[in-house]
Amino acid sequence: MERNRNFYRLSALIIILILILASLILFGSYRLSVQYFRLFFHVISVFLFVMAVIMLLGFFGVGNIMKRNMESGKKSSFLTRIALRYFIPLLLSLSSLFNRYKDDVRQIFIKANNKFVISSVKKVPKEKILVILPHCLQNSECRQRIRSGLNECIQCSRCNLGGIKEIVKNHGVDAEIATGGTSARKIIQDKKPQFVIAVACERDLTSGLMDVKGIPVYGILNQRPNGPCKDTFVDIIEIEKAIEHFSL
Ligand code: SF4
Repeated sequence: MERNRNFYRLSALIIILILILASLILFGSYRLSVQYFRLFFHVISVFLFVMAVIMLLGFFGVGNIMKRNMESGKKSSFLTRIALRYFIPLLLSLSSLFNRYKDDVRQIFIKANNKFVISSVKKVPKEKILVILPHCLQNSECRQRIRSGLNECIQCSRCNLGGIKEIVKNHGVDAEIATGGTSARKIIQDKKPQFVIAVACERDLTSGLMDVKGIPVYGILNQRPNGPCKDTFVDIIEIEKAIEHFSL
């Protein structure tokens, strides 16, 4: 709840700042006597007002999608698209700039993206679904070489990979281990799936969701009780539910 509140606070603050700036510049443009300066300020104020409108639409788009029931299957609205394409990426840049609320905004983005994917993606043949997992899910004391896939995992139950191996085998979907964002993108390029279920931290998942174009990606956050990138965990039931929901 607190994270959602921070997200809405940051959004409202940015929209108000843009509106104030736009109003000030518009006011200044009427007070200045030099014609070109007026024109310049007019252009800037129009640009800022347009930005403020996009931000407002995006803000309502996020509110709209967050209120929805995930199973509703309603078509995503124009506002949702504006929110995912323009509003949240802009918020993410600003939160990175000020180094505040980054993970809050990222989590909202991931949730909104997942709801959008649920409402817009029809079922996909199971062999066209790819599950991408971060290498940090593997127990750090495990000596099995699993970087190139789950085949060598002997399912000793010391980490989630054994359970995930079972799930993907039972459902006939492909799974790969990625060592980072670049490796995940390369795997997607090489395998050309129709649908991706990606497990990662807020940062990697967000950048992946923004970078992958044309292929829907459903994101699942990992948990990091041992710090970043070490012996992480994931809710394997959530992976299984996602596979069942999206596979034909
Ligand atoms: S479940 Fe697999 S990957 Fe995890 S520790 Fe055991 S053998 Fe290694």
